[in-house]
Amino acid sequence: VPRSRSLGELALIDRIRSRSEAPARYVLQGIGDDCAVVRPPAGHSLLVTTDFSLENRHFRRDWHIPRSIGHRTLARGLSDLAAMGATPLAAFLSLALPRPLARDAKFLDGFLNGLLELAGLHHTPLAGGDTAESPSPELLADIVLLGSAPAGRELRRSTARPGDALYVTGELGGAAAELEALAAHPARFRRAAATDRHPHLFPAPRLAVGHRLMRQRLATACIDVSDGLSTDLTHLCQASNVAAELDQALLPIAAGATLQQALHGGEDYELLFTAAPTARLPRTIGGVAIHRIGSIVKLRRGQPLLTLQDGRRKTALTGQGWEHLQ
Ligand code: ADP
Ligand code: MG
Repeated sequence: VPRSRSLGELALIDRIRSRSEAPARYVLQGIGDDCAVVRPPAGHSLLVTTDFSLENRHFRRDWHIPRSIGHRTLARGLSDLAAMGATPLAAFLSLALPRPLARDAKFLDGFLNGLLELAGLHHTPLAGGDTAESPSPELLADIVLLGSAPAGRELRRSTARPGDALYVTGELGGAAAELEALAAHPARFRRAAATDRHPHLFPAPRLAVGHRLMRQRLATACIDVSDGLSTDLTHLCQASNVAAELDQALLPIAAGATLQQALHGGEDYELLFTAAPTARLPRTIGGVAIHRIGSIVKLRRGQPLLTLQDGRRKTALTGQGWEHLQ
């Protein structure tokens, strides 16, 4: 049934518009017309990614502060761009708001603060979106990101080769460990700030690392760790038609996290990448540690895709990416 839009909806768009930046270098028209106009740099491909953030699936309003929900909504998309070595050009945000939330200025401001602070950090203008009142009681936010990379140079998950070394950025398991603590005592996290280390509430997408790996041709393949190391490494191996051996002693397990969380915990948003055996990787890129964690080997019939080496013991590892909020 066509229905004129509520004042709340228009006021909210105005609120978002007043807070988003003026047209940027590659965004010729942002919020305010029927379409945004984006012109990628000459000789670059356009990379597009879209991610849902669903209440009670990806976040809970009784656990996550609004600022974290906004931050995480954008972080997921930025991490996908990072994984391909892309530079963000513009973000688009579609919101389906349950009626009480559409009038909840405190929630909306917190959400927008979290999203726009992370957008500002990565020079990603919010260039449009859609806003609707939802008949459902749960908030739904969809983020679309446009990025660019020199044509043909984007990093892929399908190009790892046997003999390559396997690396990961930062630390693993921290997000799962923090989520466990959050679920146990949500009130303790009400004052969390994006400037402190909060791997679950405020993950840091590794755009600078992805960009450098692409620019300097350091990586042969790359994927971001959104579903957990075991699951995302499985994706990379399947796409590349190779197998991988992880060395347990080399895994950078976050303080307070368990080995299981490092192997299977989701939402760390680190980069998992491969490099030629002769490539010399810096120890850090833009202040983010780079850790060698294993090797890519030939895929042999009857052999597991992933193995975990612990001293002399070698065990098969299956993708058990941890499903959040289950
Ligand atoms: P239309 O009806 O032509 O699709 P809208 O009234 O929905 O336009 O939106 C007006 C402008 O506000 C457009 O530029 C749109 O991209 C932008 N916009 C709407 N909702 C959002 C949102 N949640 N975030 C960012 N921009 C938005
Ligand atoms: Mg619209």
